[in-house]
Amino acid sequence: MKAQQVNVLSEKKLRSIVVEVLEVILSKNIENLEPQYSEDIGFFYPDVLPIASKYNVSEESLLKELTKMGVLKEEPFKHVIRCPSCQSVKLISHFKCPNCGSPEIFRRTAFTHILCGYIGILEEAEEKNGVRICPKCGNPIKKDEYEVIGMMFHCKNCGFQTEAPYPAYECQLCGRKFDYQDADYHQYFRYVVVKEKIKELLLENFRILMQGALQKRGIRAQINTHITGKSGLSHSTDVLVLGKNKQITIDLVIDRDDVFKILGKSVDADAYDHLALIRQGVEVTPSIQENPRTVIVIFDNLMEGIETAAEKVEEMLRG
Ligand SMILES: [Zn+2]
Ligand SMILES: [Zn+2]
Ligand SMILES: [Zn+2]
Repeated sequence: MKAQQVNVLSEKKLRSIVVEVLEVILSKNIENLEPQYSEDIGFFYPDVLPIASKYNVSEESLLKELTKMGVLKEEPFKHVIRCPSCQSVKLISHFKCPNCGSPEIFRRTAFTHILCGYIGILEEAEEKNGVRICPKCGNPIKKDEYEVIGMMFHCKNCGFQTEAPYPAYECQLCGRKFDYQDADYHQYFRYVVVKEKIKELLLENFRILMQGALQKRGIRAQINTHITGKSGLSHSTDVLVLGKNKQITIDLVIDRDDVFKILGKSVDADAYDHLALIRQGVEVTPSIQENPRTVIVIFDNLMEGIETAAEKVEEMLRG
């Protein structure tokens, strides 16, 4: 059912999630997202998991979406065997007989005892205090005193001998038993952040989400447009509200560069009202704060900032 929820993810929801992930990447200055392992939940992405669970989507489908958008680049991280039923990586592995499927399969190591030249099966030699005894010379078979000639696995159930028994697994979470043919071979990726794409993608999503928040309040707005100032210069504007008596520009300020962009505009295009959504921590020049026709909304969470900005615009249009 979870997979289905991901497929019917609405465009608005996807944009909101993307904005939240980009904000985390920006605020923590993250360069790559690497899976971590926990005993309880297996592999997970610590910076993405809280957002993914909040919106009830899988972390990996979210990361795939961001990769498609060009803001992340995937690099192989680990190939892992997972339970085909519950995707857990907590598995107990053992061998099975390829002939009859019995788990009663034992290793037999053919060896030669260097001291006396005896050739036999190591596992069949008598064991005393954890050390095998050579059946020919009676000396303990020490590590550096024998050579391995070959290794075979022998099935106690059907007598089959093989060099390649089947790996088989038992899931510690759901209890499913399965062999290598049914195993879920899963590739985990490390995601490298494409820095220069973050701002572009954040802006693109902001404009559409801002327009949507205004629309919900019955306010029509244009996005990614230009206005002309009294100097005749053209200024780009993320969102432009065309009210009956008032025209309001709305701009997102992510970093210091953006501050100068809105500064010039608020001075030159003084026939307009301005609203600046400024990311917390970005230093603002006093001339912006003192401009009576510029309203500032400082945000920590952009989705909340958009809602606050939409309310402010409503107020500005009213009076
Ligand atoms: Zn067998
Ligand atoms: Zn010997
Ligand atoms: Zn399982």
